[in-house]
Amino acid sequence: MSTPCTHCATGVDHCHGTLVVHATGPADCTQPDCTDTDEARHDLRIDCGSVMGGCDCARLAQVAAA
Ligand SMILES: [Zn+2]
Ligand SMILES: [Zn+2]
Ligand SMILES: [Zn+2]
Repeated sequence: MSTPCTHCATGVDHCHGTLVVHATGPADCTQPDCTDTDEARHDLRIDCGSVMGGCDCARLAQVAAA
């Protein structure tokens, strides 16, 4: 099963991973070999608060708010 990707077809620099945008600190990518976490390279983007199991960011934010 192959997923047609416009970016792949056109040779545009991009990533198939999901960019996890953290409330604090740099963004992260689910793709281990991702070299550039530029938002423009990622079609999928989620807030780190939506990550399963949560993120340290959310915990830190709660501590800061308390
Ligand atoms: Zn692609
Ligand atoms: Zn985070
Ligand atoms: Zn990536």
